[in-house]
Amino acid sequence: MKNPQGQRLDPRRFILKFLEIYEEQITDELKTVIHGYMSEVLHSIFFLGNIHRENIMPTDIFEEKELLKLNNKFSKPFNEFCTHLPTRTPFSILLDVVVKIKGSQNETQVMEYLSTLLKELSVPKPTNMTYSNYYTLEATVICICHYERTGGGITKKFYGASLSCKGQRERQVIISLSCRHTWTLKVAYAVALAGEGGAIQLPQTVKCKAFKRNREKDHYCEEPPCTNCINIFKGATFEPCHIEADEDPNWPYGNCAETESLSKLLNADPALCEQVQVLKNNMTADLDLEKKHSLEQCHAQAGRPAYRDRLCANGNDILFFVPQPTPPSPFLAPLYQ
Ligand SMILES: [Zn+2]
Repeated sequence: MKNPQGQRLDPRRFILKFLEIYEEQITDELKTVIHGYMSEVLHSIFFLGNIHRENIMPTDIFEEKELLKLNNKFSKPFNEFCTHLPTRTPFSILLDVVVKIKGSQNETQVMEYLSTLLKELSVPKPTNMTYSNYYTLEATVICICHYERTGGGITKKFYGASLSCKGQRERQVIISLSCRHTWTLKVAYAVALAGEGGAIQLPQTVKCKAFKRNREKDHYCEEPPCTNCINIFKGATFEPCHIEADEDPNWPYGNCAETESLSKLLNADPALCEQVQVLKNNMTADLDLEKKHSLEQCHAQAGRPAYRDRLCANGNDILFFVPQPTPPSPFLAPLYQ
């Protein structure tokens, strides 16, 4: 599903909100996990700012004092945003945090919490060009999927967000990196080789529901899948079902929320993943044979010469950012009191 104009969220407010969520956690377990997410979100935002047309640096987002405090607590993203690559968008990280806090089975609570957060974070779309550090951070569509096994048993729910970065360059880089690193191999294959007839065949009892945020009403409404998703994720049950459109989607394969949620589901259930058939032009294909080609496609996109100098610190090797959860230390005072 599309992430059209997108609502612009101020990266500073987005980060500070994330920090607030981190600091209000009281259990050590959640605090440790969210510390990792916090460093990942900083890295992803700084990386996207760095490859943004107007090159937004951390110093454009924060004042010196705030920057120093953040750097003290989360130094890794500051050191690595120019050399290491993110594996997903800031909003996908936020979605994971919300699911962690609310529990994956509490769908209504997850969606309500997200709506409230976004309402708090929303700013009017700036008309003045000097507001160059407003860029899209919100994913407009969320997809939730699960699998009902033959003979009983239902998996938990897996959440995914549509791509929340604006601009062809950012989008292409994130899709390529996700294919190469983040998404499970079969999903990555379907996305990377969609243009050459690549697709996967899922059991009918893989069920996907998508929701699009309605900004006037401030809540999520059901959203049918687009033609791209129907083309590459064959056989799954979509709710609401697909509606024929006159025009093809004008967003790339992999942009939709379905991609991330299906990838998480297949990743968590190896027996299901085993059942998923790999197709090429509607014929069964051999993933081992296609894998190399599919990865080459992603590598070529992610490492285009224009980004290579900035993205790859070590020749052609791509370095990915690895968040390191750190146990909370009593010596570190809260950033904001
Ligand atoms: Zn779609």
